[in-house]
Amino acid sequence: MAYDEEDDNAVCNLEKDMHELGITQNLLDLALRHAEAAHAHRITALHLVIGELSSVVDDSVQFYWDFVSKDTIAEGAALHFERISAVLQCHDCGHEFPRSGDYHCPQCGSGRVTVKRGEEFYLDSIEVED
Ligand SMILES: [Zn+2]
Repeated sequence: MAYDEEDDNAVCNLEKDMHELGITQNLLDLALRHAEAAHAHRITALHLVIGELSSVVDDSVQFYWDFVSKDTIAEGAALHFERISAVLQCHDCGHEFPRSGDYHCPQCGSGRVTVKRGEEFYLDSIEVED
């Protein structure tokens, strides 16, 4: 048999890896575009904002960063992650509250809440050298 259960698991892991690899590649492309626009010759640092509920794993991004940035002007750039705590908002009373493992409004008990902050992942700024 060419495809047993273990092979299926391997495919799943690969897809997860591809997810983070793709994100990191996009991040590099974005940083390079900004650096080019600023006529910079070297990128020394990237400041990233990562939400508590984001599916992005910073360790994976760091791992792939070294790989994708090799032989670019961003090689060796430091990655700084700023973590954002999740904030939920209640649909019924408008109350905003930090997520504490529960998705119910502490003020009125409603379960109709949306995530206001905490799912984001973006490039906030880059540091460059001319
Ligand atoms: Zn409420």
